[in-house]
Amino acid sequence: MSVEAPAHPILDPLLAPPFPQAALPMLRNPQLRKNVGHAIDVIQAKRAKVVAEKTDWQDLRSAASAIRAQALGNLGAYLEQFESKCTAAGGKVHWAADAAEARQIILDLLREERASEVIKIKTMTSAEIQLNPFLEAGGVKVFETDLAEIILQLGDDEPSHIVVPALHVNRSQVREIFARRMGLANLSDDPQALTAAARNYLRRKFLDVPTAIGGANFLIAETGSVVVVESEGNGRMCLTLPRIMITLAGIEKVLPRFQDLEVMLQVLARSATGERMNPYTSLWTGVTPGDGPQRFHVVLLDNGRSSILARKTERQTLKCIRCAACMNACPVYRQTGGHAYGSVYPGPIGAILTPQLMQMHHAQSLPYASSLCGACYEVCPVKINIPEVLLELRSQVVNQERRQIGRFFDPMYLGMKVANFLFQKAWRFHLAQRLGRIGMRLFTKKDGWIHWLPSIGGKWTQTRDLRGLSKQTFHEWWAARGKDAK
Ligand code: SF4
Repeated sequence: MSVEAPAHPILDPLLAPPFPQAALPMLRNPQLRKNVGHAIDVIQAKRAKVVAEKTDWQDLRSAASAIRAQALGNLGAYLEQFESKCTAAGGKVHWAADAAEARQIILDLLREERASEVIKIKTMTSAEIQLNPFLEAGGVKVFETDLAEIILQLGDDEPSHIVVPALHVNRSQVREIFARRMGLANLSDDPQALTAAARNYLRRKFLDVPTAIGGANFLIAETGSVVVVESEGNGRMCLTLPRIMITLAGIEKVLPRFQDLEVMLQVLARSATGERMNPYTSLWTGVTPGDGPQRFHVVLLDNGRSSILARKTERQTLKCIRCAACMNACPVYRQTGGHAYGSVYPGPIGAILTPQLMQMHHAQSLPYASSLCGACYEVCPVKINIPEVLLELRSQVVNQERRQIGRFFDPMYLGMKVANFLFQKAWRFHLAQRLGRIGMRLFTKKDGWIHWLPSIGGKWTQTRDLRGLSKQTFHEWWAARGKDAK
């Protein structure tokens, strides 16, 4: 069966539909849910195995959390230290207040270098600022080099997971995309054949294109170094072969000391891919004559991060090291996949990060895309209390709605007002129960279930059935029981 992923999923929080609406096509697509569920089961099992090996796992989590908290607690000073060390080593640091400024800085750098093509290492931050379409419109052809990103780029698709961006695509779809876009009519869906096709496609680009763009997993303040971890070696190629390297990184990526990597690399690899160590961990500092890129730029992106930093509860969002463990553990993500979140950051971290990056003006349905079960908090290697942030963001959404005139016409608001009135007196509550039971009988079918409700109740019944109300309330049963006993 072919997967009906929605064509051109909208991953722009300014344009994406609300989460419940965006999730519907995924919920109605059993094959997509099967793909996502299978991939997550594999990653979860690997993670559980390597985490169980570490008897000090909880200590490692505490250490990682403390390191990230320390970095954020003195972020300005650590960023300045990073800038001075990187500059002293021959790099150049640029500061971008928002997405537009970052895009323009990068395009200007590419124009200075007369670059018409660029190779890229997977970077969620570049997707956050919609870099690829901007560069293409500016006359620069972009070639992704991560296997999953190639699949998405050639398939005209968008990422649905932070670590495994093409998680929603199955092997036969990959074969179809490669056969069509690479002109390989006889390509099989054997994994080795697919990898070989990608390798052939890429090898020429690595050798021919002299300019690369990448992200950073960490920036080290103490040394001015940039750290990239990856599994395929494409990042290593991008970091060694081109003459010009441009790194785009969020300002929160900084770590105070080189030694902090000892902890961070242990928790990142185990949480992200269920490995003890990433296959490729590349570190570089500025420019080394005759070795690797000879011109090196770092673009430090704010894009809303400073305002998150200023808020006490929400600040912990910036501790994130993008391992994706929270989305792998999330029962909501498992059902909807990543595109429903309308952002490059899906799952629980996306549910708290995206609305905040939008200054709470967009993506307001995302804090509700959670059952608050706490599974994300339990697995997070840097101990971000995601449910706590979700509740804080929900309260902000409610406070914003309270100030809107339109709320008087919102069935949810009116329903809550009525409930508030009824719950104030026991007799009102019991009367409402009686009337409600009579009303619900209209919708209760012979099997005892309600399959359809009008208005706001329909939001429940469009995805699940509701058991009809019993003929007797608990209070009535208890009172009758007392009489029988006499
Ligand atoms: S919130 Fe925690 S678990 Fe989720 S991606 Fe970030 S670091 Fe990983």
